[in-house]
Amino acid sequence: MGKLTGKTALVTGASRGMGRATAERLAREGALVAVHYANGADAAAETVERIEKDGGRAFAVQAELGVPGGVHELFLGLEEGLKERTGSTELNILVNNAGVMGGVAAEDTTPEQFDRIFAVNAKAPFFIIQRALTNIPDGGRIVNISSGLTRFANPDEIAYAMSKGAVEMLALHFAKLLGPRNITINSVAPGITRNSNPVFDIPEAVTAMAGLSTFNRVGEPEDVADVIAFLVSDDARWVTGSFVDASGGTLLG
Ligand code: NDP
Repeated sequence: MGKLTGKTALVTGASRGMGRATAERLAREGALVAVHYANGADAAAETVERIEKDGGRAFAVQAELGVPGGVHELFLGLEEGLKERTGSTELNILVNNAGVMGGVAAEDTTPEQFDRIFAVNAKAPFFIIQRALTNIPDGGRIVNISSGLTRFANPDEIAYAMSKGAVEMLALHFAKLLGPRNITINSVAPGITRNSNPVFDIPEAVTAMAGLSTFNRVGEPEDVADVIAFLVSDDARWVTGSFVDASGGTLLG
């Protein structure tokens, strides 16, 4: 029996990257996982397939976040999928992972780009938590994915880093609110972690990025997924409101 047998989990942005690795890891521990995606229907279906092949249970849920009605759409699909498989809409674990990078210098950032980054990275997680609290029972777990950029300067990503700074506030303040229900909430801050960005196909770029970590390599999605798996397990029952550095030592300076 896995550590999460009998639990249900929602991982946003689980069609690829760290979200996919997290969905796979939680399913391996026995959780039934809702694999959320926005546009990557095939990729989300592949995540579900990989989980099922491995003997786990999962289903895909589509919703565009950062737009009006997005959170409502997410919970329609989530509750339908949970009810079908468990007979209830109880959700034990929420991982707010979906996010968008800025990739634009401060002087070129438009108000529309800024609003979109905040809508997806900061506003959506707040309202997902607000809505999920009707489904999460006592003892539930929430993890929000931040970024090492809240502690490591990068002038090309100021708006993005600001949005992640906002996300970190969720753990601090919700932890106080949810403590009496034994619900924990924590932030995980990855460093540079391999995803489908073409930059990871350029060996010189990977070498340069690797040099930022004290371990001299870029992070793999599983490096972060394993940290999340700990935080959502019973082993992490005494950890809440915390900032967990999962940057491979990048923040050591
Ligand atoms: P990817 O870029 O590989 O994947 C992003 C995921 O988020 C996809 O599943 C995508 O869905 C989903 N998503 C993006 N925008 C939206 C939206 N508007 N509505 C709903 N879903 C959306 O992610 P990473 O693994 O690189 O990053 C995961 C998290 O970690 C993010 O929050 C990111 O900011 C953070 N992070 C990443 C770092 C890195 O180096 N990779 C470093 C530090 C933090 P779909 O494909 O279906 O559109």
